[in-house]
Amino acid sequence: AATVTKTKVTALPGDGIGPEVMAATMRILEAANAPVEWEMAEGGAEVFKKGIITGVPRETLDSIARNGLALKSPLETPVGYGGKSANVTLRKHFELYANIRPVRELPGITTPYTGRGIDMVIVRENVEDVYAGIEHMQTTTVAQCLKLMTAPGCERIIRAAYGLALAEERKKVTTATKANIMKLTEGLMKRVAEMVAPEFPSLKSDHIIIDNCAHQLVVKPEAFDVIVTSNMNGDIISDLAAGLVGGLGIAPSSNLGDHAAMFEAVHGSAPDIAGKGLANPTALLSAAIMLLRHIGAFDVAATVEQALFITLAEGKNLTGDLSPRGHGVGTQAYTDQIIANLG
Ligand code: NAD
Repeated sequence: AATVTKTKVTALPGDGIGPEVMAATMRILEAANAPVEWEMAEGGAEVFKKGIITGVPRETLDSIARNGLALKSPLETPVGYGGKSANVTLRKHFELYANIRPVRELPGITTPYTGRGIDMVIVRENVEDVYAGIEHMQTTTVAQCLKLMTAPGCERIIRAAYGLALAEERKKVTTATKANIMKLTEGLMKRVAEMVAPEFPSLKSDHIIIDNCAHQLVVKPEAFDVIVTSNMNGDIISDLAAGLVGGLGIAPSSNLGDHAAMFEAVHGSAPDIAGKGLANPTALLSAAIMLLRHIGAFDVAATVEQALFITLAEGKNLTGDLSPRGHGVGTQAYTDQIIANLG
């Protein structure tokens, strides 16, 4: 039989429900014969406890650097010990400047927006802006935070958005900024977008002020296609947009750089349900589907996505968070149902 070349991917099972949703996702991908080979790696709470203040050991960084690809479960940022966030360490270390958050209606998940045809991608700048975390007290009563935005940083995120729009055969790229108030920082992103847009004549380009964007996302979300925005704006509106289609529990994301890509669920480690076999693996599975497309495994991605959609639409064996009347099943039974639907 012909052997399929497998792509090596670093897998971080992470904290809380992380190992549970990772095991479920791997089981589904294996059943679908996905062409990936996992390289397991540590990161998060256990690593902090060993005294590694970045939350990510050298071996994990080396593994991701070698493979250029990671599937990551949530990592806890411990309060009271450890250093910075392990997630921020990974994003900064690999310069994963583009955070891609698709927002789309899912079958079987009913929301006040069901049937409106929401299908957008939010492209959030992931390493600049106030998230550089450069803060200090000017006096005992005055705090200051530096908002750093660079022309190259704006250009690469705007280009990432246009590239994605072309690759996904989308029609419009909307740049969302607060350029009316922060004319130099946010204004820089607007000006760079205006400089780049003419290179993509097949795509519509427009600009929206971020507060109006939040308003329009609630009033007429189906009007958006690709939204590109700065770090903090993107953080807020991508959570808002996830809420329109069923919430953080089912939302995937990718973190892309020029040399590595990391795929993850948007949710955290859910300590309240960890270890109980109740976690919903949909978000991490959807992130894994994004990973499969990223490596060009389009057929397997479609097969797994189809099985997920069928399972959600059937609505029989869903986890508790998706079963409004408390008839939910556990992670295993939901995973088994998706595997059964692989066809
Ligand atoms: P959370 O997302 O972990 O939990 C919020 C609520 O959603 C909880 O009630 C939880 O049970 C539920 N939930 C989340 N994911 C679920 C799933 N897959 N299935 C079923 N229910 C789910 O948010 P939090 O409690 O604010 O954060 C907990 C920890 O996670 C913190 O240490 C935080 O730093 C970390 N965190 C990590 C990431 C990441 O790794 N990217 C993101 C967010 C939070």
